[in-house]
Amino acid sequence: MRDETLAIHAGYTTDPTTKAVATPIYQTVAYEFDSAQHGADLFNLAVPGNIYSRIMNPTNGMLEERVAQLEGGVAALALSAGSAAVHYSILNIARAGDNIVTVPQLYGGTYTLFAHMLPELGIEVRFAKDDSPASLEQLIDDRTKAVFCESIGNPAGNIVDLEAIATMAHRHGVILIVDNTVATPALLKPIQYGADIVVHSLTKYMGGHGTTLGGIVVDGGKFDWVANKDRYPMFTTPEPAYHGVVYAEAFGPAAYVARVRTVALRNTGSALSPMNAFLLMQGIETLPLRMERHCDNALAVAQHLKQHPKVDWVSYAGLPGDRYHELAQRYTGGRPSSLLTFGLKGGFEAGVKFYDALGLIKRLVNIGDAKTLACHPASTTHRQLSEAEQVAVGVRPEMIRICVGIEHIDDIVADIDQALEAAG
Ligand SMILES: *Cc1c(COP(=O)(O)O)cnc(C)c1O
Repeated sequence: MRDETLAIHAGYTTDPTTKAVATPIYQTVAYEFDSAQHGADLFNLAVPGNIYSRIMNPTNGMLEERVAQLEGGVAALALSAGSAAVHYSILNIARAGDNIVTVPQLYGGTYTLFAHMLPELGIEVRFAKDDSPASLEQLIDDRTKAVFCESIGNPAGNIVDLEAIATMAHRHGVILIVDNTVATPALLKPIQYGADIVVHSLTKYMGGHGTTLGGIVVDGGKFDWVANKDRYPMFTTPEPAYHGVVYAEAFGPAAYVARVRTVALRNTGSALSPMNAFLLMQGIETLPLRMERHCDNALAVAQHLKQHPKVDWVSYAGLPGDRYHELAQRYTGGRPSSLLTFGLKGGFEAGVKFYDALGLIKRLVNIGDAKTLACHPASTTHRQLSEAEQVAVGVRPEMIRICVGIEHIDDIVADIDQALEAAG
């Protein structure tokens, strides 16, 4: 089935007991065992079933199935936030002494995790000088456990050449992990281009209404853990943290996600609440429809800013002439989501005046809401970074990021125009 249909139906069919058509919210912590033997069988993974909602919940399971199908993966694991999804995706394959290789253009929280927290755990993060396959390749060695990138960088708006990066990573027997938060599977499905693992902040466009935090890890199911057992022994040797299970044998193509669930999630607990899973599924029902409007509005705003005499520069891959325009055509059919950045001729000062004068458009740090949102990364999301770090991840001091929502385009443009006026 197509995305528009999967977004509404995948993962749930009418409940046979209650005939409920909407997804039930299974607000329960635990599940009853028929007997001591049944409990033991569940713990041994000998029979399928639920044990405890930190590691599995039927409502979350429906969300996992829906997103796995939309991404073209084999399994998924829902988590409490996108940050947990990013963290667990690395924790699942890297130990102290290992390294991962990443593009420099990253979400601020991911940058902080990579630059400061993972190194404290002994996991080295190697930042490439840019997002080209050649720059990433130079940094790979035998202790490299993953290449990491965002399909569309937040806030840089760069589009990575996923196919070329996946081919390069696989030549070294290394997996590619892609954060697909900004694109969403409605615009781009990284697994189709060779990504092995996809992570999301469901908080953003997927949920779509700025109400609910959530994250997910999706397993593409194609990477051969057995052929690459020296680099990834955690899938082919008995797991001490889960009574000796061998993941590649017990779970086949879904080994990666099974291990995130039973090791990272089970032991550290960034579980998603079933209520939030329900809300996120409600949002996903309209994802393809919303992304169309987000993209139409973003292109119109980018074009409007581009021709405005007070605007110095606009960065949006949907604009012809943009550095990433060709990649946007190839990977998103010319619809590279709705994040755009720009700078005013009056620099930082004019930018702040513009920002303070916004009315309809909300000043906050979030993206992917139905509402149009604006952020000044240098003073908020990327404030913890030094100026050199900011430049490396794609943030300039005067840069304003607008995440264009799905209101009427004329009202969005009118608010931008009055704020440009106020910027002097
Ligand atoms: C917001 C975001 C995250 C973190 O997600 P949370 O749900 O806020 O924890 C990760 N990656 C990207 C690209 C994001 O935009």
